Amino acid sequence: MASPRIDLHAHSTASDGTDSPAELVAAAQRAGVDVLAITDHDTTSGWAAAADVLPPGMRLVRGAEFSCVSETGRGDRPVSVHLLGYLFDPAHAAIVGEQTRLRAERVERLHKMTEKMAADGYPVDVDLVFAQLPEGASAGRPHLARALVAAGVVGSVNEAFATLLYSGSPYYVPKADTPVRTAIEMVRAAGGVAVFAHPLARKRGRVVEPSVIAALAAVGLAGVEIDHPDHAPEDRELLRGLAADLGLVGTGSSDYHGTNKTTPIAAETTGADAFEQLVSGATGVGVIGA
Ligand code: AMP
Ligand code: FE
Ligand code: FE
Ligand code: ZN
Repeated sequence: MASPRIDLHAHSTASDGTDSPAELVAAAQRAGVDVLAITDHDTTSGWAAAADVLPPGMRLVRGAEFSCVSETGRGDRPVSVHLLGYLFDPAHAAIVGEQTRLRAERVERLHKMTEKMAADGYPVDVDLVFAQLPEGASAGRPHLARALVAAGVVGSVNEAFATLLYSGSPYYVPKADTPVRTAIEMVRAAGGVAVFAHPLARKRGRVVEPSVIAALAAVGLAGVEIDHPDHAPEDRELLRGLAADLGLVGTGSSDYHGTNKTTPIAAETTGADAFEQLVSGATGVGVIGA
């Protein structure tokens, strides 16, 4: 049998993807994906709808991408990082509490960004930003970006980020993310496994030093995303060496966001052995499907 096609990082309309959970599963099927993880930002609200339409032969890993903050290892100010949690109990009190807090914070923060832009004459209707958000979904800057495109302010989501929504922009408002160690502890306490998402995505801004990844491995981090669209070839090699040294599982995934980004689903994939190793560390919820 050919090796399975495994994509462990994808977003739906439960956060800032443009495919509904059902459409995400369909897109994965069209791309020949055998194992798909649904990993929306700070929510598990897309899990059920994805599981409901899972076709025979496809497996679904239920996960989420946690918005976190970390020291950099250089003594400068903390940096925003993302943590993928897989197969954790979605009813675990600490996770429910923190995800609920973050989703509320996300809404409040987009209101503030919208107000700042309105004050400078950008015609963004905040109600329009939230009108299409499904119950339990996470609002994000991509929603604002689409509203700016709809209003004709910019030509694309990418242009919205480049000109108005980037993290150093006068319109940017930060949110209070979870300390990454706390998030790792939460995921593990809920029976899940934690993987550091795109740790060296330098085009997004500052990244952590390898020493930080080593320290997180010592407190229960299970893996690092190596093959990711935002990782340069030399950083993938650096991470491969680091993962081997630290005994971390190395994954590869697309970070698919539908039409909010240009990367197709399964553009990057995870090896079967790495996947099995990850799953063997989880005791929360099981992988669904064949
Ligand atoms: P937020 O979670 O609200 O801070 O928004 C961050 C999200 O915006 C990330 O998860 C990405 O999915 C998305 N993003 C960041 N930069 C871009 C970009 N240039 N084009 C499209 N989406 C982006
Ligand atoms: Fe995103
Ligand atoms: Fe991310
Ligand atoms: Zn992501």
